[in-house]
Amino acid sequence: MYEDLQNKVAVITGGSKGIGTAIAERFGKEHMKVVINYHSDAAGADAAVKTVEAAGGQAYAVQADISDEASAKRLVDAAVEHFGDLDVWVNNAGMENQHPTAELSLADWQRVINVNLTGVFLGTKAALDYFLSHDKQGNIINMSSVHEQIPWPTFAHYAASKGGVKLFTETVAMEYAAKKIRVNAIGPGAINTPINAQKFADPEQLKSTTAMVPMQRIGKPEEVGAAAAWLASNESSYVTGITLFVDGGMTLYPAFQGGKG
Ligand code: NAD
Repeated sequence: MYEDLQNKVAVITGGSKGIGTAIAERFGKEHMKVVINYHSDAAGADAAVKTVEAAGGQAYAVQADISDEASAKRLVDAAVEHFGDLDVWVNNAGMENQHPTAELSLADWQRVINVNLTGVFLGTKAALDYFLSHDKQGNIINMSSVHEQIPWPTFAHYAASKGGVKLFTETVAMEYAAKKIRVNAIGPGAINTPINAQKFADPEQLKSTTAMVPMQRIGKPEEVGAAAAWLASNESSYVTGITLFVDGGMTLYPAFQGGKG
């Protein structure tokens, strides 16, 4: 546990399942107060609130589409109204869909970019606005992916969004470092969440994904939650502008394993 996190207030976007819920649970274990944003799954958000409370924290669920500018402000207001402050903002919400690029519609491109990249910008802007106007040394964590680095054919819009998150994170980190606002990203590899449920239910696909991971296993959402807690805490006080890969070594060019190549 990180003592400095106790009673800190966090907003987590897309927190009703998967990695978002795992981060919320870990923040609960740190005795934090968490605004859990959800898009449409109210029951999932209620369950996430109970999970945080059972872990020792406090939580409150707020519906909002994070690709809409007014939403981010509403989430800041909810943090202040319910918990009196804002310290940590986690831009976690994300989506993906698969299309060969020649068949990718503008609508599908925009849907993914709007959530994965514009949503990160809007959340960051709202958090910065609060941090700067309250002279706070706030903390922003953006959920990127190994695909900010590894190309992913038939997911060009997803890879472009995460590549954008990488340089956005680095740029904003540099811009506000002197204000002691830290901005980092997390790059998960293959993590066992609903986004991957169909893929990992198929033994062949599970095997082929696992083969791309030097540690030879799929990651757990709580392993991403642990990275988020460390980045949010003062234990990472001199860290800004990085992507912390939580990927079992997936970004290490596993095809070269055993001296191949
Ligand atoms: P998930 O599908 O389980 O959760 C994604 C969450 O984002 C859901 O709660 C969803 O409702 C929310 N969301 C989507 N659009 C939204 C919107 N417009 N407004 C508010 N919320 C919205 O997926 P996950 O695996 O938990 O993914 C979380 C993040 O981690 C995403 O950014 C994803 O790209 C990233 N990621 C996941 C993996 C993985 O293997 N699971 C790997 C790399 C990166």
